[in-house]
Amino acid sequence: MYNPSSLKAEEFICHDEIMDTLAYADTNKDNLELVDKIIEKAKLRKGLTHREASVLLACDNPEKNNEIFALAEQIKKDFYGNRIVLFAPLYLSNYCVNGCVYCPYHAKNKHITRKKMTQDEIRQEVIALQDMGHKRLALEAGEDPVNNPIEYILESIKTIYSIKHKNGSIRRVNVNIAATTVENYRKLKEAGIGTYILFQETYHKESYEQLHPTGPKHNYAYHTEAMDRAMEGGIDDVGLGVLFGLEKYRYEFAGLLMHAEHLEAVHGVGPHTISVPRIKRADDIDPSAFSNGIDDDIFAKIVACIRISVPYTGMIISTRESQACRERVLHLGISQISGGSKTSVGGYAKPEPEEENSAQFDTSDKRTLDEIICWLMQIGYLPSFCTACYREGRTGDRFMELCKSKQIQNCCHPNAIMTLKEYLVDYASPKTKKIGEELIKREINTVPKEKVRQIVEDNLGKIEHGSRDFRF
Ligand code: SF4
Ligand code: SF4
Repeated sequence: MYNPSSLKAEEFICHDEIMDTLAYADTNKDNLELVDKIIEKAKLRKGLTHREASVLLACDNPEKNNEIFALAEQIKKDFYGNRIVLFAPLYLSNYCVNGCVYCPYHAKNKHITRKKMTQDEIRQEVIALQDMGHKRLALEAGEDPVNNPIEYILESIKTIYSIKHKNGSIRRVNVNIAATTVENYRKLKEAGIGTYILFQETYHKESYEQLHPTGPKHNYAYHTEAMDRAMEGGIDDVGLGVLFGLEKYRYEFAGLLMHAEHLEAVHGVGPHTISVPRIKRADDIDPSAFSNGIDDDIFAKIVACIRISVPYTGMIISTRESQACRERVLHLGISQISGGSKTSVGGYAKPEPEEENSAQFDTSDKRTLDEIICWLMQIGYLPSFCTACYREGRTGDRFMELCKSKQIQNCCHPNAIMTLKEYLVDYASPKTKKIGEELIKREINTVPKEKVRQIVEDNLGKIEHGSRDFRF
């Protein structure tokens, strides 16, 4: 029976409720009176239920769809302004005991190059990432209690935070590792992680079990309940996501929003982020083998509908997607993107030799971080390397309260300007620097509070003279 407050996976992600929701959405997708009502509710910027959002996702009336896209753009602007936060993934190890059929790291893949970085190799990688300008990482590792025990992950986090190369530092480490115990989540929290990210892959239990035939990840309930354990372990910020293409997208969309509603009902705070990966080609993975792939139009609609359904939740897109696709969805709701990414184990300090291949997926956007920063500014965005919230203790409900009171805008915007300035001084190419300095001059005038503007101007001068890490 459906119960968003239950701690049992099959009750808060209830299959029957999803099927009823999809039927309700099908029945009502042409009910323009209801569609209008839901759009009006979304305009209040307090979010939508999974049922309401599913009606909008199913609606194929072109005029209404234009309204949905326009509203998503407006909400994106109101909550996130023109800022885009940058991060990079860092793959520590691709040893994995699971049998996920869509991932080349599955245990039966004998020809992929298996690697696990030593602490010294991690150090080299982090120096290379700092030299690119990155401040925020997403750690990735396969599930393997022998090769990648929690102690290895914790030691790696410690190593990463300890490296201060030139003016560089990694200020926020988000972690994407397999579902684990409350005790291990507590250890991750103590190690100072930012967000704990775990993709559900699919919310459809039967498909989930088929797609994860072997290994601990086969256990649907253990995986689906991981965020509750993470929160019990003290991690305030969790990141959800599904791998679009595995199951029917409308099913996944309803499940994703039900998961968000569950976190809100039980922990009083929804997900910090939602990621929207789509299946991509990789070593022994052919995306055409999965019949539920979605095209760019549906993908854009999903992003827009998530944006208006959970306005306070950040949305992430990786270099899996092409430049053109990323540009389209940035307008509709994405707030964080990766840049200059390597999806192999290592590869930042020196490129992986041709005879080796340890990548989890092929990237589509292969531009350097500098090219991405330059591009973002040219299309009207303000790139940000801000990591202030979690370092100021603004996590979980404190973060959400701040968001809801709109005060977050007084932090994000000046922090974006100051962290971009650091990037321009330390790492940018001459072309990027020129565009960036002009952008900062314009953006500084849009800081509403005179006092804040004054502080930012002072700090920009101090950054020119070598000081770093100012934040609100
Ligand atoms: S998706 Fe994760 S758990 Fe599954 S095979 Fe890949 S690395 Fe392992
Ligand atoms: S101030 Fe907080 S919410 Fe805003 S960009 Fe920085 S870390 Fe993110």
